[in-house]
Amino acid sequence: MLEHLEEYHRPRDLHQALELLRRKRINTVPLAGGTNLALSRSPRLEAVVDLSELVLDFVGIGTTIRLGAMVRLQTMVRASEIRDIAGGVLSEAARREAAYTVRNMATVGGTVAVAESTSELLPLFLALDASLDLDGGEAIVPLAEYLTRKSTYMHRLITAVIFPNPQGMGVGTYRVARLESDEPILTAAAVVKRDGDRASLVRLAMGGIQRRPIRLLEVEGKMLAAGTIDGMLEVLPEVSKAVTHRGNLRASAEYRKEVAPVAARRALLAAWGE
Ligand SMILES: Cc1cc2nc3c(=O)[nH]c(=O)nc-3n(C[C@H](O)[C@H](O)[C@H](O)COP(=O)(O)OP(=O)(O)OC[C@H]3O[C@@H](n4cnc5c(N)ncnc54)[C@H](O)[C@@H]3O)c2cc1C
Repeated sequence: MLEHLEEYHRPRDLHQALELLRRKRINTVPLAGGTNLALSRSPRLEAVVDLSELVLDFVGIGTTIRLGAMVRLQTMVRASEIRDIAGGVLSEAARREAAYTVRNMATVGGTVAVAESTSELLPLFLALDASLDLDGGEAIVPLAEYLTRKSTYMHRLITAVIFPNPQGMGVGTYRVARLESDEPILTAAAVVKRDGDRASLVRLAMGGIQRRPIRLLEVEGKMLAAGTIDGMLEVLPEVSKAVTHRGNLRASAEYRKEVAPVAARRALLAAWGE
C-alpha cells in the first residue's frame, strides 16, 4: 500500500497545498481521511498532500450551506446543525455511507472525489443542486458537471460542497439493498417544491444506475411539465432508460432497470410528503 510514495507533505496554508498539488515533475494527490487512498498500489502515486492542517472542516449554515471538504462523515451524522437540515436526511445519508470507524476518518471531499456509483450521499447532494468550490474559490462547478466529466477535474482540489438551504422544500431518499446493513444496489434522492397540488421545482438523482451517481435532468423536465404528483409518477418508467450499469455481484443490469423506477418513485413520494 502506497508502496511507491516518495513524499508526504502537511502544509498549513492552502496556497502552499495548491502549489504542491500542481507540480508536474512528481505526481501529487490530496490525502484526506485516507480510507480509500491508503489502499492504493498505484505506481503513479508518488507524493501526497495531507489536508488535515488546512482548516477545511468548517460547516456554514445559512441561505447557502457550505460543508468544508475535510468535514468527516461522522461529523455530518452527529452535528446538530446538520441533523436539522431537511429532517435529518443528510445526516442519515452520511451514516449509511460507511461504517462508524470509516466515517470517523472519511471526509466529504474524499467521498465526492471517489464518487462511488452507489453512494447515498452523492445523489442527495445532486438533488440538492450542490456545487463544488475548487482550489479555494478559484472555480465553482456544479457537482453534476464534476461527476460527468471527472477526469477534467483530476488535478483540482475540492475545498467545499455548497448548496442552497432546502428549507421549504420536500427532500426524500430511498435505497435498495439486500440487507439493511449491506452496500446498496440502487440509491435515489428527490427534492420537490410544492405550490399546492403542483410542483414548482423537481430534482431527481440516482446512484447504482451508471458508473457514477447522476442527476436525471430529462426526467426532471418531464415531471415539472406534468406538474401534479399523478402526472410525475407517469413519467417514472423513463428512469429505466438512464440505466447503463452493466450489473455486478449485487444485482444484474436487468434488475437495476426494473427496480430503478420503483426507487425513484419512493424517493419522490417521500419528497412530496406522502
Ligand atoms: C472498510 C472500508 C469500507 C468502506 N465502505 C464504503 C462504502 O460503503 N461506501 C463508499 O462509498 N465508500 C466506502 N469506502 C471507501 C471510502 O471510505 C470512501 O470513498 C471515503 O469517503 C473516502 O474519503 P477519504 O476522506 O478517506 O478520502 P481519501 O482516501 O483520503 O482519498 C480518496 C481519493 O479522493 C482524493 N481526494 C480526497 N480529498 C480530496 C479533495 N478535497 N479534493 C480532491 N480530491 C480529494 C484523494 O486524492 C484520493 O484519490 C470504504 C473504505 C473502507 C476502508
